[in-house]
Amino acid sequence: MSEELLTLHEKIVECQLCRLSESRRNAVPGEGAFDTSLMLVGEAPGRNEDLLGRPFVGAAGAFLSDLLSSIGVERTKVFITNIVKCRPPMNRAPRVDEVKACQPYLQRQISLIDPKIICLMGNNAISAVLGKGYPISEMHGKRVQTVDRCFFVTYHPAAALYMSELKETMTKDFKVLSDILKSVS
Ligand code: URA
Repeated sequence: MSEELLTLHEKIVECQLCRLSESRRNAVPGEGAFDTSLMLVGEAPGRNEDLLGRPFVGAAGAFLSDLLSSIGVERTKVFITNIVKCRPPMNRAPRVDEVKACQPYLQRQISLIDPKIICLMGNNAISAVLGKGYPISEMHGKRVQTVDRCFFVTYHPAAALYMSELKETMTKDFKVLSDILKSVS
């Protein structure tokens, strides 16, 4: 199973399916445990992630690590990735065609890892995976069950760096996530 993931990640690193491959330094497939109950999905690599080829290694990543440790979860025990695996220039939001081109990679990661819960962080991750109709202000802190998957919706950790009141909101959301994790494990 993990060999298939490694092969997939090798494919992602060499991917040229969209224009983001032209400006990236490194693609960022994702990292963490392959055998895990929890997968976290953000938007796209930023500058630090592009330099290192690793997800969530900047300030937003430090806050994400804090959120995980606040519920007693080690970062290395979950799998962290993004809806697009390459950095959009100037950190713009990924475009629809870029999200579409990258979607099969995320879908394959989800089916190989088969996590109990997938935590979608931020509007772009939520709409890319669940579609429209899940306004974050109403849906954050909630579980969304689809036919075959259990999702959890919250804000993007970077948003809490700009709007400090979201730190408390996200900390509360992660407590709910922790309770759901306990109930499904
Ligand atoms: N923001 C994201 O959405 N993903 C990262 O990997 C880093 C910052």
